[in-house]
Amino acid sequence: MAVHVLPAALAAKIAAGEVVERPASVVKELCENALDARATSISVEIEQGGLRRVMVADDGAGIAPDDLPLTVRRYATSKIESVDDLAAIRTLGFRGEALASIAAVSHLAIRSRAAQDDAGRLLTVVGGEQAAVEATAAPVGTAVEVRHLFFNVPARLAFCKTPRAEAQRVVQCVQHLALSHPGVRFSLGVNGREVFRTSGSGSMADVFVAMHGHELAEQLVPVDESLLNGVLVQPTVHRGNRTGVSLFVNHRWVQSRALTYAVTDAFAELMPDGRFPLAALNVTLPWEDVDVNVHPQKADIRLRDSSAVVGQVRRVLREVLSEHVAVQPLRQRFQTMDTWQSDAGSVRPGQAAQAVDLFRPVDAAQASPENGLASGTPATPATLRVLGQLGAMYVIAEGVDGMYLIDQHSAHERVLYEAVLKRLPEAQSQQLLEPQSLSLAPTHLQWLESHVDDLTRMGFALEPFGNGAWLLRAVPVFLAEKGHDWGKFVTTVIEQKDNPDYRGDPLERLRWVIACHGAVKAGDALSTAQIEALLGALERCDLARTCPHGRPTMVRLSHTQLAREFGRT
Ligand code: ADP
Ligand code: MG
Repeated sequence: MAVHVLPAALAAKIAAGEVVERPASVVKELCENALDARATSISVEIEQGGLRRVMVADDGAGIAPDDLPLTVRRYATSKIESVDDLAAIRTLGFRGEALASIAAVSHLAIRSRAAQDDAGRLLTVVGGEQAAVEATAAPVGTAVEVRHLFFNVPARLAFCKTPRAEAQRVVQCVQHLALSHPGVRFSLGVNGREVFRTSGSGSMADVFVAMHGHELAEQLVPVDESLLNGVLVQPTVHRGNRTGVSLFVNHRWVQSRALTYAVTDAFAELMPDGRFPLAALNVTLPWEDVDVNVHPQKADIRLRDSSAVVGQVRRVLREVLSEHVAVQPLRQRFQTMDTWQSDAGSVRPGQAAQAVDLFRPVDAAQASPENGLASGTPATPATLRVLGQLGAMYVIAEGVDGMYLIDQHSAHERVLYEAVLKRLPEAQSQQLLEPQSLSLAPTHLQWLESHVDDLTRMGFALEPFGNGAWLLRAVPVFLAEKGHDWGKFVTTVIEQKDNPDYRGDPLERLRWVIACHGAVKAGDALSTAQIEALLGALERCDLARTCPHGRPTMVRLSHTQLAREFGRT
C-alpha cells in the first residue's frame, strides 16, 4: 500500500480511541468538564453500561451560544491559551479533545445555557458530522447526552465488556470523582435506579462512607495536613489488593504507582504481608510541580520530585498512624480468644528472665532528643494497671475503658524493633564480661564481613580473630538486660537473615531478627516490675498497637462488652 494521508473522519476516530476507551472514559471526561465549569451538582445516568446512553447534567457556568458549536471541534478549549499555560494546569481538562472525540464515535447532544442568556441551545452531532443547533428552553448549566457509543467503530465495541462490567467501571469512576470533589453533589443512576449519591458536604469522609459502606464509619481516621488531606481506615481493616487506596493530586484522581507505594509502605508494618490499606487521600502540590500532560486519559501524572513527595507522604501518614491507631477491640465474644496464637515458637519454661530492668533501654531516663525517643512521644507513665500474667504468655491489665490482654512477645518485639530503629546510629554498647567466640558457616562468615558495620551501629562489637573466627565483645544496652547466650544469639541473628518472614533491605531484616529473637518469649515468667517496664516502654512506641509483623500487641474487652457478656445490659 502506498503512503497516503487518512481521510479526516477516519483520523478523528483513531484519535478518539486514545481518549475514549469505554463508557467510563466518557463519563470521566463529561464530569471533568462539569467540575471545570464549577458545577455544585452533577447527575450521571447510564443505560446498558453506558453503551446505549450516558447522560451527564450539571449546574455549572454553561456555554455561550456562539461557543457551543466550537466545543466539538478538536483542540477547541476555553482552558488554556499558550504553551506557558501547560506548565501549570489548574483545570481537569486542557486539550480540547474530549467532546470532539466523543462526538466522532457516538450520537452526541449538548444542551446548555449560560447564566447571562435567556434561552438555551441544543447542539446535536452524529458520528462527528455536525447536525444542528437550535434554541431550546434549558436551566443554567449543561447537559450532555451520548447515545450509541462506538456505533461506527465496531472494533472498539467488541472490546467493551458486558454492560454490567462497564457499569461497574462507571460506578468506580463517579465515586472517585466524588471523592476528588467532596463539595460537589453527585448522583449516579444505572438503568433508572440510583446506585450512588453524595451530599456535597465537602467532607471526603462522607463520600468515603457512601462508597465503602457505613461499617467503616467508626474506623475512619481523618488526615488534615497541608500536604495531605483525606481519610484512612484503621489498619485492622485491610484488603488483598490495592484497590482500597484512592489517590488524588490537586483534586485530580491519579493512578500513581509511586504514591500508592508511599501509602501502602506507611502501613506495611501494621498489617500482615500481602494485605493493603483503605484510604482516600489528596496530595496538594504547587501546580508547576505536576505535569498532567503525560497520559492520554490523564490518569497518570509526572511529579517534578517524585521521591521527595513519596517520602513526605509516607512520613505524614506514619505520624497520623502513630497518633491514631487504636487498640483492637476483642472480636465479638470472649470465646474467640482461643483462636489467637502466640507466634513465640519454642516455649522454654525454665528460661525466665532475671533482670528487673529488662525493658529499661527505652525508659524515660534514657530518652533524649538525639536518639529520637523523646520527640513527639512524651514519657507518660503507662496508663494500664497490671493485674497479672496469663499462661506466662499474656499480660492482663486494666485501663479506663476496659480490660486489656497484651501479648508479651509481640509487645516486646515492638519495643525492641523501635529501639533498634531509633537508636541508630548512637546505639550504646555494653561490654561483655567475657568475649564470646562465634562459630559460623562460610556463607555466614562472608555476610558478617560485609555487614559488620550495620551490627556495630546497632551496638554490637565484633572483631575478626584470625582463621575465619570472630569475637563478640559487646552487645547493645537495650538487649543486654535479658542475658542471652550471646554467642548463640548473634549466630541465630546471622542465620535468620534470609528467613522469608522478614522483609525489607538487609538492615531492616536485621532489625526484625534482633527484635524477634531478643524479645521475651511466650512461656517466660515476668515479674510485675518487668511487666510495668514493658508496658511503659510500649506506651512510648510510635506504633504500639502492633508488632513489626503486623499482629496486634494487645486486645481490649470494653466495659460495654463485659456488661453484655454478663447480661447486665
Ligand atoms: P477541554 O476540557 O480539554 O477544554 P473538552 O472537549 O472537554 O475540552 O471541552 C471543550 C470546551 O467545551 C471546554 O473547554 C469548555 O469551554 C466547554 N465545555 C465542555 N463541557 C462543558 C460544561 N459541562 N460546562 C461548561 N463548558 C463546557
Ligand atoms: Mg474536557
